[in-house]
Amino acid sequence: MSYLSRLSKVVRYQCLLQKSPVVLVSHGVRKFSRSTARNNNGGPDQVRKKGLLERLGEGPVVGDGSYVFTLERRGYVLAGPWTPEVVIEHPEAVKSLHREYLHAGADVLQASTFYSSDDKLTMPGHEAGRTITCKELNDKACTILKEVSGAADVLLCGAVSPTPSYLDGKGKTVVQQEYSKQLEAFIQHDLDFLLAEFIGHVEEAEWAIELMKTKGKPVACTLRIGPKGDCAGVSAGECAVRMADAGADVIGINCQFDPNTGLKTMSLMKAALEKEGLSPYLMMQPLGFHCPEVEHEYEGYQMLPECPFALEPRQLTRFEVHTFARAAYELGVRYIGGCCGFEPHHIRAISEELSPERGGKLGEASKKHVPWGGALKNSMLEPNRNKGSRQHWERTKPASGRPGHPDVQPKLINQ
Ligand SMILES: [Zn+2]
Repeated sequence: MSYLSRLSKVVRYQCLLQKSPVVLVSHGVRKFSRSTARNNNGGPDQVRKKGLLERLGEGPVVGDGSYVFTLERRGYVLAGPWTPEVVIEHPEAVKSLHREYLHAGADVLQASTFYSSDDKLTMPGHEAGRTITCKELNDKACTILKEVSGAADVLLCGAVSPTPSYLDGKGKTVVQQEYSKQLEAFIQHDLDFLLAEFIGHVEEAEWAIELMKTKGKPVACTLRIGPKGDCAGVSAGECAVRMADAGADVIGINCQFDPNTGLKTMSLMKAALEKEGLSPYLMMQPLGFHCPEVEHEYEGYQMLPECPFALEPRQLTRFEVHTFARAAYELGVRYIGGCCGFEPHHIRAISEELSPERGGKLGEASKKHVPWGGALKNSMLEPNRNKGSRQHWERTKPASGRPGHPDVQPKLINQ
C-alpha cells in the first residue's frame, strides 16, 4: 500500500472508530519467538530471546497498557503525584497488573517507574522523597518485573519520565543527572531496552536520548504531543526528525491524546522523517479515552474538566481498539500499545487484531475470548444470543447512559 493511500485511510479514520474493525482473528496457532533446542545432555536449552529491534523488523510488537492510571482506580496510587512508591507499598498490585498484560498478549512489560525521578519525588505534595530515592524505587520495580516475567518470552522495558528540573530551567547537566539516576537500576538489572516517555519538550527528549544511547541498549522515545507539536511550539514533524537525529531507534507519542488524534500526529511525524530520509521504527501508546475536542491543545486531555476522575464514559471499547491497531499498523507504526485508560482487554484487542501479522501469536487470555462476541450465541439469555456476530458489534454505537450529556465539552479548562 502506498503511503498516500495510507494517509487517506488515516484521514478517514476520524470516522472509523464507530465503524468496523477489519480483520478476524484466528485462534488456531500460538507461536513464540523464544525457541528451545537440545543441549549435549539431551535437555532443553533456552535459545536467546529476540531483542526489540529484531522483533520490530519482523512485524508489530504489542506494548502493555497503563500502570499508574489503572492502579489509581484500583486504590493503590494517589492521583497528582501518581505515587511511584506503589512498587514498595503494594508490590502485589503491580505484579498482578504486569501479569494481566502478559496474559493479555503483550510482548513488552514496562517497569512501573513513572514519575520516579528524585526531583519529582521531592516536590511539594510528595511524601516518598523524604525516605526513598529514585534508584531504590526503580530497583524494586525491576525486581518485580523480573519475578513476574520469569522465563516468559517478553521484553522488559525500563522507562524514564520527564523531569521537573527541565521545567525549572536547570540546564542539560542537571537534567541528565536526573535521567542518569533513573537509568541506573535498568542497566544493573539488564533490562532489554530503554524508553523515555511522556516528554513534553523535544529538547528534553534529545538530552534523554543522548544519555540513553551511551548505555548500549535499544532506545525508544515518545512525546506527549498532538498535531500542534511540543510544548514549546516545535512542530510534530521537526520533533520526530530531531529525536531520530539524536539517535532514537524507536520514536512516537504516548498519552494525552486519543488514538484518532495520535494517528494524525504520527502521520505528520512520518512525513517529516521520510522527507529527511530517516526511518526509525514508529511507536504509539495513546490514551484509552476519546477526546477529539483537545486535538489542538498542547496539554491534551488535561484540559478536560473530566480528567482524570470522570473519564469513564469516554473509554474506548475493545472493538475501537481493534480499529486503532489496524490503522496504526497500516500507517507503518510497529510498536503499538496503550497509555492511560488502556486496560488488559484493550491490549488483548491489539494482540488479536495483529495476530495474522505475528504468525498467529496470541496471549493466553484469548483462550477465554471469542472475537465479535461469538460465544454469546450460546447464551442462556435470548437477547445476548442475538449479539454473537461481528455485524452487531460493528453497528452498535455505545451510549453514555446519561441523558442530556454533551458529545464533547463545549468549554475546556482555562478557556
Ligand atoms: Zn498516560
